[in-house]
Amino acid sequence: MTTTFSPPPAGLDEKLLQQLAQQSTLQQMWLSGFLYGIASNGQAAPNGVLEAPSVAVAPQATPAATLPQVTVLYGSQTGNSKKVAQQLSAKVKERGFQVVVADLNDYQAKNLKSEKIVLLVISTQGEGEPPVAAEEFHKWLLGTRAPQLDGVQFAVCALGDRSYLQFCQTGKEIDARFEVLGAKRLADRVDCDVDYEEAVEGWMVNVLEKLPVPAVLAADTRSAIVHSNGQSSVAPAAKAAGTPLYDRKKPFASPILEKIQLNGRGSQKETWHLELSLEGSGLVYEPGDSLAIYATNPESLVKEVLYTAMLNGNKTVTYNGKEAEFRHILQQDVELSVLTREVVDQYANWTNNAKLKAIVQDNAALKNFLWGRNVADLLREFPAALSEATLLGFLRKMPPRSYSIASSLLAHPDEVHLTVAAVRYDFNGRPHQGVASTFLADRIKTGESVPVFLEHNEYFNLPADDATDIIMVGPGTGVAPFRAFVEERSERGASGKNWLFFGNPHFETDFLYQIEWLNYLKRGTLDRLDVAFSRDQKDKIYVQNRLAERSRLIYERLENGAHFYVCGDKTRMASDVQYAVSQIVAKESGKGEEYAAEYLKNLKKQRRYLEDVY
Ligand code: NAP
Repeated sequence: MTTTFSPPPAGLDEKLLQQLAQQSTLQQMWLSGFLYGIASNGQAAPNGVLEAPSVAVAPQATPAATLPQVTVLYGSQTGNSKKVAQQLSAKVKERGFQVVVADLNDYQAKNLKSEKIVLLVISTQGEGEPPVAAEEFHKWLLGTRAPQLDGVQFAVCALGDRSYLQFCQTGKEIDARFEVLGAKRLADRVDCDVDYEEAVEGWMVNVLEKLPVPAVLAADTRSAIVHSNGQSSVAPAAKAAGTPLYDRKKPFASPILEKIQLNGRGSQKETWHLELSLEGSGLVYEPGDSLAIYATNPESLVKEVLYTAMLNGNKTVTYNGKEAEFRHILQQDVELSVLTREVVDQYANWTNNAKLKAIVQDNAALKNFLWGRNVADLLREFPAALSEATLLGFLRKMPPRSYSIASSLLAHPDEVHLTVAAVRYDFNGRPHQGVASTFLADRIKTGESVPVFLEHNEYFNLPADDATDIIMVGPGTGVAPFRAFVEERSERGASGKNWLFFGNPHFETDFLYQIEWLNYLKRGTLDRLDVAFSRDQKDKIYVQNRLAERSRLIYERLENGAHFYVCGDKTRMASDVQYAVSQIVAKESGKGEEYAAEYLKNLKKQRRYLEDVY
């Protein structure tokens, strides 16, 4: 290969040129970046060497000192944002940048104004709230103390779930706030749904293209990323060897080994215990992780949609490159049981229906409209003549549903257990049902297989030290991960005390896993078990009432380093339990509510108050 160079500028040292020509390709690349940096910054250190900032370690052959540092910040609820942040960091690093990766839980917000390039990956939980780890940063950034960010360039990757009304709300707020504070948007924000991979990939390409300095190849993409808290993690490139065979895009067909109804006769609840096989999959999980499943819609709902839309189920259609009968696509590939803002919005625009458009414009009205309605309800209430293809164009691809794993692999090798409450309700005089819970309860039989993949929950896990005490609050199916926790600690012979608070309507019919708990109590694996059967007496008794009754001991255990876990209903229970804990701290410390609020905040920051709530 012949390379032609233009003549060097007059006065350039001949010897220097000869020496440069003798360097290896990698060394020349390094030098090109180094010289570019000097040229663009117009300065070099007195000894002619640019010094690397102390915050990050530059890989050897990377001209990192000459490139602006890139700070990747993530706010993660279950670990997805962290995973994306790490992938992004590895890619940015490949371009020769120094990268600092920080969990917003640990990041010193006051440093923000001195950053040059900030890439944020942030999820949204519940109804538009930031993940717990990012609560403080989010509050600070949106508050009056946030500084001007004139010298900062930024880009935001928002992770969320379209089935929530305030989809990717935290990412949207942060993106807008950076702009208001004077920061320059490097690349447009991306809002990602639960199957985020493709959207994230596109966003990363866009961000990498927009980075301000020409790319220089990094010497070693496998080198460690330096976290702001001093911990280092290996970039995903190095982890590739351990990548599981099965994931969201390629789920494992997991056979159902056992299905048991946990509630007794006469219960108003319908809770299923399912045991699935992971044999041959190579899939492994930790207590606290979730199992995601791909469910199919009930035939009755497919029929209802066909009937209300007056469409032909036998017609062959193409959806996402798949050719099949329309009826089949409706059953397998699209979400019918839940409506999202996007579906209603697109349908309102297409039908040009003023009433529906007005609903979409009014957040409160939309929230009310989405509650309990499915696709058949929308078509019935706002009928329109549309084709099979038009309808498919509006609908959301069927997302997987996640369930907290109720077993420990140590106790049940090659198995994964779930605790699932079947969701059934009447709306406008018609029966409605949750798609995945009734798929597991009604439509899938023992011996048949379910497409599954694992979701690691980075933050809802057992303490690393087996001697640490744990307090678990899990009413209803919220008890699921605590069965996994107790099984695991039992198998490991962990010396820390395990204390469970469980609640459900009735002792007789709804004491989930009663025999197992009593056995654990007898063996001492469970140190204490407190139960709240809400409807067994005139006045309701809930888990938080039991917490209040044990106030002294709870405080003592917290003071002794215990981890506190809550799983179950988010809307009311989780906040009531949190309030109860803050009352306990205020009372038992004798230092009042302000102290208790700070105490709880610190517990969360230390990841000792952990929630898995929906
Ligand atoms: P549930 O509806 O949460 O009821 C369980 C018990 O909690 C009942 O005795 C109920 O009493 C009581 N309760 C009601 N309001 C409460 C409050 N404000 N504070 C404390 N307790 C309260 O049970 P479920 O049907 O089994 O549902 C559990 C929840 O956990 C669901 O929201 C589910 O999505 C979520 N979840 C499930 C999993 C899983 O993987 N299985 C994981 C995480 C979360 P009354 O009904 O008598 O008022």
